[in-house]
Amino acid sequence: MTTLEQSRKLVTEIPGPASIELSKRRVAAVSHGVGVTMPVFAARAGGGIIEDVDGNRLIDLGSGIAVTTIGNSSPRVIDAVRAQVADFTHTCFMVTPYEEYVAVAEHLNRLTPGSYEKRSALFNSGAEAVENAIKIARAYTRKTAVVAFDHAYHGRTNLTMALTAKSMPYKSGFGPFAPEIYRAPMSYPYRDGLIDKEWATDGELAAERALTVIDKQIGAANLAAIIIEPIQGEGGFIVPAPGFLPALRAWCSDNDVVFIADEVQSGFARTGAMFACEDEGIEPDLIVTAKGIADGLPLAAVTGRAEIMDAPHVSGLGGTYGGNPVACAAALATIETIELDGLLDRAKHIETVMKDKLGRMQADDDRIGDVRGRGAMIAVELVKSGTGDPNPELTKTLAAKAHSQGVLVLTCGTFGNILRFLPPLTISDELLIEGLDVLAGILAEI
Ligand SMILES: *Cc1c(COP(=O)(O)O)cnc(C)c1O
Repeated sequence: MTTLEQSRKLVTEIPGPASIELSKRRVAAVSHGVGVTMPVFAARAGGGIIEDVDGNRLIDLGSGIAVTTIGNSSPRVIDAVRAQVADFTHTCFMVTPYEEYVAVAEHLNRLTPGSYEKRSALFNSGAEAVENAIKIARAYTRKTAVVAFDHAYHGRTNLTMALTAKSMPYKSGFGPFAPEIYRAPMSYPYRDGLIDKEWATDGELAAERALTVIDKQIGAANLAAIIIEPIQGEGGFIVPAPGFLPALRAWCSDNDVVFIADEVQSGFARTGAMFACEDEGIEPDLIVTAKGIADGLPLAAVTGRAEIMDAPHVSGLGGTYGGNPVACAAALATIETIELDGLLDRAKHIETVMKDKLGRMQADDDRIGDVRGRGAMIAVELVKSGTGDPNPELTKTLAAKAHSQGVLVLTCGTFGNILRFLPPLTISDELLIEGLDVLAGILAEI
């Protein structure tokens, strides 16, 4: 590996003939409920490039949705996974435990915000970890209600669908959903600011609005936990106004409510800090991680205060594969890579490059309503010329044209009008800028 040339190259139309053939097999064999962003089949990936089965090389601005943060098939991960597969692939940690699981827990306890005693538990997916965080919070508080926020995304299992805000495509037709889940208004500076400037900048005001809903409609006496993404992912890379998260955090402390940060998308160096909470100066009681934790191997975790994490009875938590040894080996190699290769600084550098370029595009184009995000988690919100009205049509067209020119970008947002960028931190500046230049060129044409 690592010989994958770091340049964009199109040798066929996108998708090419080999991808079209595979797409036919996909349609015949795979549930149509599983959608794809780009009907191009991957053959190899690394650095900032995905090479498809036709030999096209695409610029990767998505990292498999914030998963391959340290780059696909990262060298230390390859070595660690190979060695672990050769030793053993599974024993089940609940049957005969192994050191790798404990070592991942130790790292998580060390790396997450807060210097108090912590514990971790490992799972397979972000949704499974979110579910377990809720179980733990309920066991600890002996209360049942949970608050999630507008635009939230927490997964696709039954409990996490209930927590997720958006109906299509995540929830529609899949109910009934888990009870005792409530929704509070989020701080959304760009959209709040279209109504009233103060809302855009005063996070405490936005927190007051949310806490009034929580207090009047649920009541702290019934509330086990508040769960929130410090920077929302699928909802549109919404960065709440300064002061919003600290105010919620403080209210939870005063009211025996567990504050859960869902850092599944924003965690593991993505935002230029190990966790996005750090930039807000908050210490969550529980923090949920997944995606970037193991360079693509399925692993997730809940980490938090020892007294909360130890509240469930013995054997109340677990799962057959949770903390699989191969995934743990990949996580240890991922953490080592972030720390030894200075990837936090790399994420900050990517922010500078992207915001500079996108900011200049915004100055010339009143369809770019907002440029926001932190580190290598950056988005543009597209609107109808000179208004705040969401422009999902433009977003869709722009993404499709970028794909056909060999640039993989993702969209998101409640209104489907956000172009989001999650490049691997190993992408070169040249590829990153080339990708953005392609987008600027397309935007100028339409
Ligand atoms: C992706 C995501 C999840 C769900 O993770 P899965 O591994 O897909 O189950 C939960 N929360 C956030 C913030 C996410 O981005």
